[in-house]
Amino acid sequence: MCIKNRLRLAIYTILQMLKVITMARDPTPKCPVDKSHTVFLDPTDNFYYCKEHIEANLGAGKYHGRIDELERGWLINMELEYKEKTREVSGRSTITNEELKTYFTRFKDKNLRIDVLKKILGPPSGSDTPLIRVNDSNKSTAVIPSSYLLRLSRHTRERWRQRRKTGEDGTPLVRFWTDGFYHPEREKDSLLERMQEAMEMEEISEKIDNLVEDLEEMLPYTDIKTSKNEQGHVSWTGTQIPEGDLPDDWARWEEYKALKDAIRHWETIIGVKKKDSILNFEPFGERPRYTEEGDLAQ
Ligand SMILES: [Zn+2]
Repeated sequence: MCIKNRLRLAIYTILQMLKVITMARDPTPKCPVDKSHTVFLDPTDNFYYCKEHIEANLGAGKYHGRIDELERGWLINMELEYKEKTREVSGRSTITNEELKTYFTRFKDKNLRIDVLKKILGPPSGSDTPLIRVNDSNKSTAVIPSSYLLRLSRHTRERWRQRRKTGEDGTPLVRFWTDGFYHPEREKDSLLERMQEAMEMEEISEKIDNLVEDLEEMLPYTDIKTSKNEQGHVSWTGTQIPEGDLPDDWARWEEYKALKDAIRHWETIIGVKKKDSILNFEPFGERPRYTEEGDLAQ
């Protein structure tokens, strides 16, 4: 083979390769509805069109035959919607409160066949777990687990009831009804507890006040001066010795300390922190009980 022919073959090969690359980069799109339709590029607007679709929709506007419009329509009509089975409510709960309400509102005040109820509340498609486990065998327990009726009562604020019944022919039945406003016991208890607690706090505060008075009275006085008024009543004045100035051999230390322990005990119960204890203030502790203006120190 001469050089000229070899060169020609090489150029031919390169051109073929370029053609393949160009085709891969810019393939003419196909009609998404029917691959056999004829697609052409309109040089006036640079859009690809489907000849058959334009001819089938004459008068509908040329843009309906555009390939990208046809593709969008195809995706919306054929691909967008998931048409297979989906998984039902995930997690531990098989039925939502709203669903419970919808079902039981329809069940209410009727004599229902338990066997049919079991089918209705059976497993949703794609699941083995029933919406609600219906007890159709053991007559000593409720047909519907009480937890569901409790949830329903909380959700609807009405107290839901159920009772087994039997048809004349022996058909096992159940009836659901409501009997008034639902008061969760839990709320009632906590309200009662709060009231009791408040009363107890009040009582304990009073107790502490009395103990503090007792404690204060235990502190001895100096410079006692007695005086008689015109009616002959005796009164006295003196200076009370603060705790810090009491002698070590004071005879009443044991009693005094026991009283302080009692005060601290009750303060702890009502949540008074050690730094806020009355025992930190004069005359028991170092901190002044009154401000310079005469107000109680906080
Ligand atoms: Zn087409």
